Amino acid sequence: MTTTTEKLQELDRQHHFHPFTDQGDLNKKGTRIISKADGVYLWDTDGHKMLDGMAGLWCVAVGYGRDELVEAARQQMSELPYYNSFFQCTTPPAIKLAEKLAEVAPDHVNNVFFTGSGSESNDTVLRLVRHYWAVQGQPEKSVIISRKNAYHGSTVAGASLGGMGYMHKQGGLPIPGIEHIDQPYWFEEGGDLTPEEFGLQRAQLLEEKILELGVEKVAAFIGEPLQGAGGVIIPPSTYWPEIQRICDKYGILLIADEVICGFGRTGNWFGSDTFGIKPDFMPIAKGLSSGYLPIGGVMFSDRVAEVLKNEAGEINHGYTYSGHPAAAAVALKNLEIIQDEKLVERVAEDTGPYLQDRWQELLDHPLVGETRGVGLVCALELVKDKTTRERLAPDGKAGGLCRDFCTSNGLVMRATGDIMLISPPLTITRDEIDELIEKAKKSLDDTLKAIEAG
Ligand code: PMP
Repeated sequence: MTTTTEKLQELDRQHHFHPFTDQGDLNKKGTRIISKADGVYLWDTDGHKMLDGMAGLWCVAVGYGRDELVEAARQQMSELPYYNSFFQCTTPPAIKLAEKLAEVAPDHVNNVFFTGSGSESNDTVLRLVRHYWAVQGQPEKSVIISRKNAYHGSTVAGASLGGMGYMHKQGGLPIPGIEHIDQPYWFEEGGDLTPEEFGLQRAQLLEEKILELGVEKVAAFIGEPLQGAGGVIIPPSTYWPEIQRICDKYGILLIADEVICGFGRTGNWFGSDTFGIKPDFMPIAKGLSSGYLPIGGVMFSDRVAEVLKNEAGEINHGYTYSGHPAAAAVALKNLEIIQDEKLVERVAEDTGPYLQDRWQELLDHPLVGETRGVGLVCALELVKDKTTRERLAPDGKAGGLCRDFCTSNGLVMRATGDIMLISPPLTITRDEIDELIEKAKKSLDDTLKAIEAG
């Protein structure tokens, strides 16, 4: 007899092509089908319950099962399910969401262009940045400097801005006019330098690159306040102040990709607040709507608004779903929940420090070479030797093994190579954090046993 799960898996094999997946490989096994969620928990179609340590894909900030968001969507869909913001039109939810975003963003950031995702936001940023300089008579000022191992999305510009070599290999990327400097990943690349020395050195690569290209060619620098998908790489404290100094010195635009860090993840509304960055552009998505409906945006500073709103003429760019009213209504309600439940403060003062304390305990495990984190986002490095940082098996096998043990132990934890990541919903309680840590410890033990058994 075939179960519902098996039937669905078979249909999935036949018709559904998955993102970031070796489909041939997956089809030999079959997908895990997630069918229900509540709070911080997920269930699959076999009834297996898991604590979602990744908040979906870093996005379900307010947790699953929020009736307020369902109701916001229902109301808006029955009143006006769709209208666009082209042709001198807009909708009430898009306006109210723009106002709310200006309220929670850094003081000098008061405008937003809406998109449907983080990737679209970064495609938008690329065009707006170049347009900003072009309308000021500097069209050659068009190069954007990014970092290796950055993630900025999967669209053509998003993946080109990103610094993932394995993504560039497919589809003829990166597009011209984008340069990648080395990342501030101390554990892997810091050698004998202190984190502070290393952070400074890696930031100064930006200045070297600007001078190499000629400042008249450089439009902007883009970086995630902390690299999320790259492995929760938290730059040393010296990094961002130096990047900021260099951007200010040469007058180039600073883009802080807030798609993961935005909306409370690091204990402030934005990662830029946490790391002391003063961005000109902030791509946003994910936590903006807690993933309940797809929506993203590009926020920009007053300095940029001055040009884009007064001197730039018509912007030949926009999406059918820019400012989608149902998505905007859900996002607005989501931000109200974050405010009303003081989730940002809770991450800063209570659950963030608690998680960071407990996460550090994992450093005692023989497989763990480093633990790191800020707010409600953490990573640990799996190693063979704690002192030399020697890795276990090549090709991230230990990470995949550990992730699979987590899943069977009822915890969703992500593996990037041999880095294990968590980024749970901002609503997670102390008790649920305890559960997460216990499950992580058990999964590390299981991984160690499996490695020792060969
Ligand atoms: N920027 C960053 C920093 C991201 O982490 C992501 C997604 N993980 C994106 C952009 C792309 O967002 P999306 O998947 O919504 O297109």
